Amino acid sequence: MSHEPRATAPIAGEAITALPGAAAVSFEIYPPRTSDGLPALYETIRVLAGIRPRFISVTFGAGGSTTDRSLAVLTHILRETDVPPVAHLTCVGSSYAEATGVIRTFLDAGITRFLALRGDPPAGATEDDVALGDLESAAQLVQLIDRVQAERSPYREQEIPGVPGAAEVAAGEPVEISVAAFPNGHPRSRHRFEDIDALLAKQAAGATSAITQLFFHAEEYLEFVDRARRAGVTMPILPGIMPITSPGRLRRVLELTGDPRPDDLATALDAAADNAAQRAVGIAHAAELARAVLDGGAPGIHLYAFNNHDTVLAVLRAAGLIPEETTP
Ligand code: FAD
Repeated sequence: MSHEPRATAPIAGEAITALPGAAAVSFEIYPPRTSDGLPALYETIRVLAGIRPRFISVTFGAGGSTTDRSLAVLTHILRETDVPPVAHLTCVGSSYAEATGVIRTFLDAGITRFLALRGDPPAGATEDDVALGDLESAAQLVQLIDRVQAERSPYREQEIPGVPGAAEVAAGEPVEISVAAFPNGHPRSRHRFEDIDALLAKQAAGATSAITQLFFHAEEYLEFVDRARRAGVTMPILPGIMPITSPGRLRRVLELTGDPRPDDLATALDAAADNAAQRAVGIAHAAELARAVLDGGAPGIHLYAFNNHDTVLAVLRAAGLIPEETTP
């Protein structure tokens, strides 16, 4: 978690949609470890919602470790803001019955948008370990979410335009399912085509958009999208951008993603004199990345917010996506 200072000024005026040619922006947050962290997170949600993002997504601990806390944050977004919440869900380690139960709980709470993930196997587990559960991939989770929703809401009545009082049967309430994509390859994939194949499998299963793992250079995203399009991926692929505001954060994400060290960013962070200068490096890098992918045709940007609004809003200001004058 970041320890950067928080803005106190309300920023209701910072509407991205107020800018000409405005880009669609979304954010990822995570549930706090205990309920003590909720008030600060709810303030961050209030501020982020003020710029009218396309959605706010809430992470989910693989194995269901955060189910209740994730749901509390998602329902807060649903009730207290106009922003649609997106629930990350993982399936690793779950039986069909367990995964179905979690999906039902989320749907019952009014959540209809999901980011379907496999999740990382527990440390030491191998791919054919029984501890990995019944669902082998995110694509299977996509299908399960669709099926559970179809069973709950098989059809609905819809008014017939121009025929007062008449109704016809229409398909049930749809769910929207996004999936993960890996511009620099998933750490477990053996070659780059495997990541594209996995994305095609998720699309075939019913996913309608993808969000990428973080990456460091615009070409990594743009070339990946190009490869995906040539292979038949038609769904929007939203670039996930993380402001890397310290050498420590860079080290942690490299451990997670297995990506090669981005020398340019690493050198700039190392050369920065103090925390404030490192933060400025991270913000400038993320803003430049955001502009470059948008210029290259990205359908929007998805910012990893680390439960802190100051940094991601600074990125949006530096990228020219929200007005400069509201800088705290
Ligand atoms: P899958 O796509 O099912 O599999 C991962 C890899 O396995 C593929 O890239 C491919 O190499 C291989 N593979 C799978 N299926 C096939 C196939 N049919 N053909 C060929 N190869 C295949 N983790 C959490 O625990 N909680 C979160 O909230 C969370 N949020 C995330 C959000 C984003 C935007 C991203 C990018 C990742 C997130 N993760 C989260 C991490 C994610 O769970 C891990 O990266 C996990 O290892 C892979 O999940 P997946 O859904 O991509 O899996």
